[in-house]
Amino acid sequence: MTDDTPQNPDRRKVFGGMAGGVAAISLAGAAQAQQADTAAGAAPLTRMRDPQTAYPEPPFPEQQQDWPGLAGEMDPRPDHGEESYRGSDRLAGRRALITGGDSGIGRAVAIAFAREGADVAINYLPDEEPDAQEVIALIEEAGGRAVAIPGDITDPAFCQDLIAQAVEALGGLDVLVNNAGYQQSAPSIDEISDQTFDQTMKTNVYAPFWITRAALPHLEAGASIIITSSVVADQPPENLFDYAQTKAANVIFAKVLAKQLAGRGIRVNAVAPGPFWTPLQVVGGQPPEAIPEFGATTAIGRPGQPVEIAPLYVLLASGESSYSTGQVFEATGG
Ligand code: NAD
Ligand code: MG
Repeated sequence: MTDDTPQNPDRRKVFGGMAGGVAAISLAGAAQAQQADTAAGAAPLTRMRDPQTAYPEPPFPEQQQDWPGLAGEMDPRPDHGEESYRGSDRLAGRRALITGGDSGIGRAVAIAFAREGADVAINYLPDEEPDAQEVIALIEEAGGRAVAIPGDITDPAFCQDLIAQAVEALGGLDVLVNNAGYQQSAPSIDEISDQTFDQTMKTNVYAPFWITRAALPHLEAGASIIITSSVVADQPPENLFDYAQTKAANVIFAKVLAKQLAGRGIRVNAVAPGPFWTPLQVVGGQPPEAIPEFGATTAIGRPGQPVEIAPLYVLLASGESSYSTGQVFEATGG
């Protein structure tokens, strides 16, 4: 097979429908299926590709932005699946809230959820309105309801209000993705101010607690809660003393809450990304000099693009993963 060989589910359906499902597939048949794919505009995501070269590789241009940063100003622009993610009704009718849904991983999840048939509300900071408006337009294009709820989740009163607004606008809630995060690199503990420590804890640990507690009365059996942890939860680098602690806390969030909520039919899981090309990293998440080689030390040799992790969130949100709860799903580049 070549890198261009389509691997999409429609094609598998065609083959699966042949006598016995494993009938000899003639070359002519394969060619026909490939033509059908091309006509349908098959997504490159589902194609057989070499992951090392499928997306931009280091070195990247040096760049820094003021926090919280915009995906739209990164070079290269992150790939959130705008052109490539194709849905297949895996979340039809679901109502989802995604924090940090304007950019990075949260944006890729918002696009994927919408294309899988969900109505989607996103939360973000007011400064991120340009990114958020792009996401809202993409959700609407997918045919779903799109709800923009700007606000600061380090404020407990806003967290209550966020859930109230999401439930009101979506008519309920089935999927909650606690994804917003704050990360600042610091070479040593004495270079972490009280203010930074507090903001990291409030954003990454307190806010998911406040938001999830407020959401619970609205969730029914079959609902799914997902939290974005990190590979640093068990492989902490020395420059992320405070952040790595919060991401370890996120793992415990999923493991303990899963036990509490299993009896209500609600699943809770964590996703642990490795290095992903998102604004978080160019607003102080990494030392500026580390940006050009960001992701180079993974086995794959490059950072992940947000679109590459969205399918994990789709799986965890959908009923397909009904036996997975209290677990951590990684996409780290090896
Ligand atoms: P990102 O900058 O695109 O997303 C982070 C989002 O958090 C922002 O868009 C912002 O909307 C939100 N946010 C931060 N502070 C907030 C506040 N006070 N109120 C409301 N919203 C706030 O970056 P990302 O990398 O996509 O981050 C998403 C999640 O992924 C985070 O939890 C992060 O810890 C985690 N993560 C990222 C990486 C990576 O390499 N990029 C690796 C592991 C884990
Ligand atoms: Mg953002």
